[in-house]
Amino acid sequence: MGIQVAIDGPAGAGKSTVAKKAAQAVSFIYVDTGAMYRAMAVHLLRKGITADAPDRIPEGCQDADISIRYENGEQVVLLQGENVNSLIRTEEVSQMASVCSALPEVRAKLLNLQRKLADENDVIMDGRDIGTVILPDAQVKIFLTAGADARAERRYKEQKAKGIDCSYEEIRKEIEERDYRDMHRETSPLKQAEDAVLLDTSFMGPEEAAGAVVDLIRRKVPAE
Ligand code: C5P
Repeated sequence: MGIQVAIDGPAGAGKSTVAKKAAQAVSFIYVDTGAMYRAMAVHLLRKGITADAPDRIPEGCQDADISIRYENGEQVVLLQGENVNSLIRTEEVSQMASVCSALPEVRAKLLNLQRKLADENDVIMDGRDIGTVILPDAQVKIFLTAGADARAERRYKEQKAKGIDCSYEEIRKEIEERDYRDMHRETSPLKQAEDAVLLDTSFMGPEEAAGAVVDLIRRKVPAE
C-alpha cells in the first residue's frame, strides 16, 4: 500500500489547486475524485437523465465505464474510453454531479476505482468522503475549507478568467446548494473526519496553503 493523503472539504475551497501543487512537491499522484462524479453526471445527462428525475439514476449509472489516466502529470477522466475533461466543468454538470453522488449505486461504482488508485500509488486524493469512507486509514487527513464569500469569489474569478459569463450571486447560491446537499445526504456525507486537521484557507494564497499541506505530510511521512 502506498502513502495516502486525504483532502476533503466544500466546493470552491481550493482543494484541487492546493492538492495538485502539494502532490508535485512530494512526487505523489493527485487524484481528483470530483472529476469522476462529474464524468458520471455527463453519462447520465447524455442519457437524458436530469437532476429533476433522480429516480432514473440508479439504473442509468450501471453501464458507466469511468477510468482515469495521466498525461504529462495531468489527470484525464475517461468515460466509455472518451476523454471528457473539457466537458465536466459546467454548472449543469456540477449540479448533476452533486445530485447523482448522493445515491449509493453511484458511489459504489466509483469506490473500487478510488481505492485501487490508492493501493497502487502514493496519492493525494481529494473529494468529500476520502478521509471518512474511501481511505479511513490514510496517514494524513486534511479538511480544507474557506468562508462562503471567499469560496464564491474564487469560483467567480475562475469562471470569468475562462471567459464564462456569470453572476457572483448565482455562483454563491449554487455553491451553497451543492454544499447543503453534500453535507445532508445519507450516504457518505461531507464532514470532517475525527482525525483530520482543519485547514482554513480564507486568507491564504494557493502557495501558502500547499506549503501547509506539504508540512503536514512531512510531519507524518518524513522525506527519505
Ligand atoms: O470536487 P467537485 O466540486 O469537482 O465535486 C463535484 C461533486 O461531486 C460534489 O459537489 C459532490 O457532490 C460530488 N463528490 C462526492 N464525493 C467525492 C467527490 C465529489 O460526492 N469524493
